[in-house]
Amino acid sequence: MQSRKNYAALALLTLAFAACSGGQDANAPVSRDDASNAADEKIADTTMVETAVMEVEGEAPAASAAAVAFAAECDQRIDAADELFNALEASEGPHTVDTTLESYNDLGIALYNGYAKSSLYANAHPDESVREAGRECEQRFDELNTRLSLSRPLFSAISTIDVSAEDEATRFFYEKQLRDFRRAGVDKDEETRARISAIREELLVIGQQFSKNIAEDVRSIELDSVDDLEGLPQDFIDAHPPNEEGKIVITTNYPDYFPFSRYAKNDAARKALTTQYMSRGYPANEPVLEQMIEKRHELANLLGYPNWAEYVTEDKMVASAENAADFIEKVADLARPRAKLDENVLVARLRQDYPNVDSVGIWQRNFVDNLVREEQFEVDSKLIRQYFAYDRVRDGIFELISDLFDVQITPWQTEVWDDSVESYELKDGDRLIGRFYLDMHPRDGKFKHAAAFPIVAGITGKQTPVAALMCNFPGGDGTEGLMEHSQVNTFLHEFGHLIHFLFAGDHRWVGNSGIAAEWDFAEAPSQMLEEWIYDKQTLQSFGLNDKGEPIPDELIDKMNAARKFGLGMGNRQQMFYAAISLNYYNRDPASFELLPLMKQLQAEYSPYDYLADTHFYTSFGHLDGYSAIYYTYAWSKVIALDMFSRFAEDGIRNTATAREYRDKVLAVGGARPAAVSVKDFLGRPYNFEAFAESLAVDGEGAGPLE
Ligand SMILES: [Zn+2]
Repeated sequence: MQSRKNYAALALLTLAFAACSGGQDANAPVSRDDASNAADEKIADTTMVETAVMEVEGEAPAASAAAVAFAAECDQRIDAADELFNALEASEGPHTVDTTLESYNDLGIALYNGYAKSSLYANAHPDESVREAGRECEQRFDELNTRLSLSRPLFSAISTIDVSAEDEATRFFYEKQLRDFRRAGVDKDEETRARISAIREELLVIGQQFSKNIAEDVRSIELDSVDDLEGLPQDFIDAHPPNEEGKIVITTNYPDYFPFSRYAKNDAARKALTTQYMSRGYPANEPVLEQMIEKRHELANLLGYPNWAEYVTEDKMVASAENAADFIEKVADLARPRAKLDENVLVARLRQDYPNVDSVGIWQRNFVDNLVREEQFEVDSKLIRQYFAYDRVRDGIFELISDLFDVQITPWQTEVWDDSVESYELKDGDRLIGRFYLDMHPRDGKFKHAAAFPIVAGITGKQTPVAALMCNFPGGDGTEGLMEHSQVNTFLHEFGHLIHFLFAGDHRWVGNSGIAAEWDFAEAPSQMLEEWIYDKQTLQSFGLNDKGEPIPDELIDKMNAARKFGLGMGNRQQMFYAAISLNYYNRDPASFELLPLMKQLQAEYSPYDYLADTHFYTSFGHLDGYSAIYYTYAWSKVIALDMFSRFAEDGIRNTATAREYRDKVLAVGGARPAAVSVKDFLGRPYNFEAFAESLAVDGEGAGPLE
């Protein structure tokens, strides 16, 4: 996600940062602190990504030798890119594919590699001053990219190239470049272009302020007695002794908030903490968000669009703000019957303790969801963890990918930025497909979520793709690193981005290479791969305890039953978030106020009532990064399940189907519209059927009480 945000800024060259990330992305939280997969924590994680950005603040460390060296490398890379850019601007033509477009592509590659390496170091290098140097370098590439995107001479040169005799991939790349130039505003007059640049810069600062206000607004409640901690694990209780005044302080930080919202039996205390949690960023962020929305509206108008949502959906699969609205409506409708069943189960359980309730409050959802999972689905996460030691999980995922796609993963001897980082090569027989790093365990100052970071774009005949997975899983510290099932799921999800990037690393044009398809498709391959992590054969191949016994059938059955529970309410809540995201951006900012519109959307979509005195939108970090398109995650899911339907039919380990999928979807990268690739693989256009089936209430039902 963090990378995606940058990608959005890098309009011109479609750098295709493979982003992904934690939170809303993975079905599971990715930090070690909160290992549960209650549907709503997705949202929480998303703001965590934003807070990671904020670590930028603070005193600059003294530069180490490594930082000085990296800064010098950055200078060199920027100079080299500048030189290519200046030469292109000065070139008089004639402009052809083999001359100008190739040079332009080289410039794109220089930008891609330079930006990617700085981003990697900014997020992963163990030396703080190198991380700082990485962030500075990222900004310089950002600035250079903005200059490119508004360069008239460059645009004129590119637009006179004749591509009519070229192959489909070249023509597609070319059309995307022209479109992105126009979307950047290159064809506007000088005054307008200056205003566009100014707004972009302002938006960057506004976005940083928005994140900062969320990250810094740590709130708390005070409890009078240890009795108020009833239900919480002993290690939590031990870590929260009464202070000098005899009060126990519980904060809105994740390591406090998530266990407390899940386990605390004191309903009033849970409600008080949730109220604080959902007030983070208020009131400071209200004017900041208003400004963000206004500036984006102005920017969209300057670029010739009626509002920001129209602008930002135009180059996505969804294609228009109206289609996005229809999509949200459709998913919300599909989820409604199952949401009702979910709610019945939760209310019935709540009534055992609180006889008068007739609905689930937002401060009760994690608590009661957990109770139902423990009591009725008997999913014992402590038991499950015994089967997922980190090393075995990693080897199991390697084996799954190797078998499915008929490839080999072997160690790669190279330098790494930290001793704990592993490096590998992905090969197809003798052919090297790409290389990757695994940086999988927490470290001070490291990126705190889970994501795939591109490092080198794969360009045919020029460079082999390289990427890194950055996660924060247990292990790597001498322990066996027992993982939650949700973390295994996250591992495979991120690995999905990795292989997508590497398989798509054999293209002539940088804008077609890697995860370069439309943003709302980007999560589909990873979400599809998650299906394997509920497959018995796959799980039992590497899910072994320390006696070497495979995870029992019965436990896997329970995990699958529990997986469906909560999907109805979870999807409706997600559509509520998607609706806020879209509706704040699809109209004139002067025509609405934040709180009343949010309340109206909540009543329409959310399974939970508005909690008095809260202002959720001031801590909804994705209103910056995703802006209007929070729907994308659900959109990708629809396509993921549709693509999986072929595996469901042909067999989940069918290598011929996997080969077809690799060739027709993954390897294609961004060389054609994603819808065309999916149709090629499925033999028909994608549809909603498999997704609707996943929410159907007939047959399996929503819960054991039904
Ligand atoms: Zn992802």
